[in-house]
Amino acid sequence: MDTISKKTGSRKPKNIKHHNLRYVLSNLKKHGVCTASEISKESNLSVTTIVKILDILKREGLARSCGKGPSTREGGKRPELLAFNETYKYVVGVFFLRTQARYVLTDLNGNTLLVREVSYRDASDIDTCIKDACEQVARILTEQKLDAAKDLCGISILIDGVVNAGLGTVEYPIHNSTWKPGRQIMDQFEAYFPETDNIMIENSGRLWSQRFLEMNPELATGRVLAFYTGMANTAGVLLDNGVIVHGANCLIGEFGHMTMPNARQAVMCECGRANCFEKLIALERLPEYTLREIDKNVESELYERLMERTITPLELMGQADLGSAAVQRVLDQIIEYHLTVISNLMVTCDPKYYVIGGAYAAGSAYFRDGLMKRFDHTTFWGIPFGANIVFDTGSMEDEDKAYMTAPVISRYLQTLRLDD
Ligand SMILES: [Zn+2]
Repeated sequence: MDTISKKTGSRKPKNIKHHNLRYVLSNLKKHGVCTASEISKESNLSVTTIVKILDILKREGLARSCGKGPSTREGGKRPELLAFNETYKYVVGVFFLRTQARYVLTDLNGNTLLVREVSYRDASDIDTCIKDACEQVARILTEQKLDAAKDLCGISILIDGVVNAGLGTVEYPIHNSTWKPGRQIMDQFEAYFPETDNIMIENSGRLWSQRFLEMNPELATGRVLAFYTGMANTAGVLLDNGVIVHGANCLIGEFGHMTMPNARQAVMCECGRANCFEKLIALERLPEYTLREIDKNVESELYERLMERTITPLELMGQADLGSAAVQRVLDQIIEYHLTVISNLMVTCDPKYYVIGGAYAAGSAYFRDGLMKRFDHTTFWGIPFGANIVFDTGSMEDEDKAYMTAPVISRYLQTLRLDD
């Protein structure tokens, strides 16, 4: 990894060089096709320095030439157009789900080249599941004519549950309750792929929540908190300048288990406590909540559909936008729960942005408008919250699986070292 210069005993010059190299590389990745002087204009590096760095990147294969651009106004030499070579290396993502594993292969720009799901032979047997997963990854590489040592720059492993990413341990595999907690997954992958030193394991919700920020890097400076609600489990992440903050016990992000003092009933959660946020706002509860609010004489049609169970929770949520007073009252309560979480996060994390996504954010304008309005009127000791809410209305069924490999790619590019 890092080398200390023998002559001076200082690591500074080499670090600056690598820093500049990574800076130019990330600019190239961001711009698509550009010239050395375009990168220079955005930085404090001279064109000569950048040309030198681009030469190293080209020689290593990380940058590719795209011909010549138009000449400058002064009529000088036509500048070389360069682009990031996204197929320089590839990354595999493995997501351990309840009954099957999902595999993706992406290039360095996160383009999804392959998605595959394979059922477990025996979901209760963790060793077989991991062994089969390693073999499946090897099979994918062979099929794609890729070499684990030469072409693979990392493996990203995802699982639902409590994950200590720093130690590489799964503390609590939420859907695979027969799996023992520990470091087995990482240990087996590291043993199977000894040539790959960039293997990571992370809570799937954290990676999913980070996805919007990968797509909107302008939000990714300072503290940003993202959470996805409405599904059975709430996913969340806290980022500090684009880096996931885990906390001493890797519990930051488990916002779904904040308990709600304003709950109208006691709902038990698997974590052992009552009235956790994610339980109270779970989509499946909407019919029951609506039946409690509805006046069957006023909204008779909706009432009948609820009694006959011919309306899905998502369709039901949509009724708020169509003017159903009962569903609007239900969403008002859901918004209150969100505000309780935000108020608690305000005094613990104090982020600049809240990115809120998931079923409610994507499914209902009434929810989005209502939450914004209530948020704008919420104060702390009379001080308005100096933060912004941004909604991610993207769908979770998205074909784009870039989120699965994004952190492994950024770690690879951030630690990349090239010789002159
Ligand atoms: Zn809970």
